[in-house]
Amino acid sequence: MPATSSAHSASPDRARRIFDDIEEQFRLDQDALVKITEQFLADFSLGLSEYNQPMAMIPTFVTGVPNGSETGTFLALDLGGTNLRVCEVQLLGGHQFSLRQQKYRVSEALKTGEAAALFDYLADSVDAFLTEIGSQSPTLPPGNSPFSSPSLFDMPPQPEPFIPLGLTFSFPVEQTALDQGKILTWTKGFAAKNAIGHDVVRLLQDAFDRKHLHVKCVALVNDTVGALLSRAYTAGGCILGSIFGTGTNGAYLERVENIKKLGDNPARQKGGFMVVNTEWGAFNNTRTVLPTTQFDNKLDRESINPRLQAFEKFISGMYLGEITRNILLSLIDAAPRPLLFNGRSSDDLNRHYGLDTAVMSEIEEAWEAGREHPSSEGAPKANGVVPDWQSAHFTDVDKLSHEDVARLERIRGVITQRMGIPAADVSLRDAAVVRWAASLVANRAAKLSACAVATVLVQTERAQLGGGFVSDEERIIIGVDGSLIQFYPNFGTRLRDSLRTLVGAEVEKRVDIGLAKDGSGVGAALCALQAVKQD
Ligand code: BGC
Ligand code: MG
Repeated sequence: MPATSSAHSASPDRARRIFDDIEEQFRLDQDALVKITEQFLADFSLGLSEYNQPMAMIPTFVTGVPNGSETGTFLALDLGGTNLRVCEVQLLGGHQFSLRQQKYRVSEALKTGEAAALFDYLADSVDAFLTEIGSQSPTLPPGNSPFSSPSLFDMPPQPEPFIPLGLTFSFPVEQTALDQGKILTWTKGFAAKNAIGHDVVRLLQDAFDRKHLHVKCVALVNDTVGALLSRAYTAGGCILGSIFGTGTNGAYLERVENIKKLGDNPARQKGGFMVVNTEWGAFNNTRTVLPTTQFDNKLDRESINPRLQAFEKFISGMYLGEITRNILLSLIDAAPRPLLFNGRSSDDLNRHYGLDTAVMSEIEEAWEAGREHPSSEGAPKANGVVPDWQSAHFTDVDKLSHEDVARLERIRGVITQRMGIPAADVSLRDAAVVRWAASLVANRAAKLSACAVATVLVQTERAQLGGGFVSDEERIIIGVDGSLIQFYPNFGTRLRDSLRTLVGAEVEKRVDIGLAKDGSGVGAALCALQAVKQD
């Protein structure tokens, strides 16, 4: 068994003060969550009324959601998270689809080089995919797109001399039509030159044309819109699509009359509903209500987009590992005596973005494994065993149960393997500290995510802040996608716990949060279908 680090026992008060201070910085009580949600609602209104607001509230020109009967075969191209994906999507009707896909890596050089090179790479990937798929089966011959049954947009099917492709582009785009929109900013580590202000469909189509591909980009969709449409396709309805992955964002169904900034745009005259892409990742860039810590400030200052995407930097997979890394480094560097790993760091921990959020997941998994009641709150104090800063008893490893020792040993394993800290420098207490730091960061992210979801429920009159109002709707369907919500232990449970405190249990229990499976691909296909039938 590894020795516990003597630094703690030497000066428990000092350690306790430092840990308590960090914990205090991450605390988000109910009042704070309510205040954040109120600000969110105010920013929603502002973004719906005026253009050029940080929270862009982008009208998408998607005015209906599918009912699951739609059919057709489409190509989908998905750019925006960690992977680039090309898919062939077959909408089979009856809420079913099938999908074949290939992932391609986007190098840092492509992310930050010339936009034309990035879009050439996208076109090359589509080309490679078509060659691959074409050699397997002839489902997609040019000039023969199959549209075989009626769809939500009631127009008769048109055979086309090209393969229709829907583009899922997961960045802010000021859309002016289903197949038109200018890139507003890059996010999530992208910074390709000569892209901002350009029409993203044009950039892609030009690349296809340069390569003489028989592919036409007919529709453009944000991944959140894709999530909304695909969940609607499989579940028969959906009011919000949201992503908790590399980035975060949500798109929801808004009454067109509320989208005041559309003015007398014909789309507004028609009335009804339209999907609005909120771009909530940019909520509160001024950070007046977001609970910024010194660890967040460091992250922001060193990021490629300082002072932008503030909310996203508290929530999403691209950043949680980095916030945690900042906490761990502060403990390693603590003077005059270190509070972690005997003051040892590693190449990984020293490197910007060197701690992947997936490693936090593994640590929380190692802790949760075999527990009867997963700790939804996740605060280490709650279970009275690990590590109780208040009682300074923690260094007494003998008092830990066998199960707790086993858990901490597993975490030690993750730390040595995935963070590169030599085992001799990782005490059981260090393991507990790392898990504590990870859960502080992840809990805060889940709580803030709940504010965003609550905002949509209140905005669409399905809930009132503080509870009280219940519409007669039985199910409020939400589609989600992204690595955090899919893989981070208890992220969804923690989000729901906070949602309940914000909108009341009566509403929360009607909320059906489900994975928008392959949302980007299916959503792009559904939009492509709408576009082709509109022509
Ligand atoms: C982008 C959004 C996107 C979200 C999730 C954010 O960084 O601005 O457009 O929906 O990430 O991928
Ligand atoms: Mg994605």
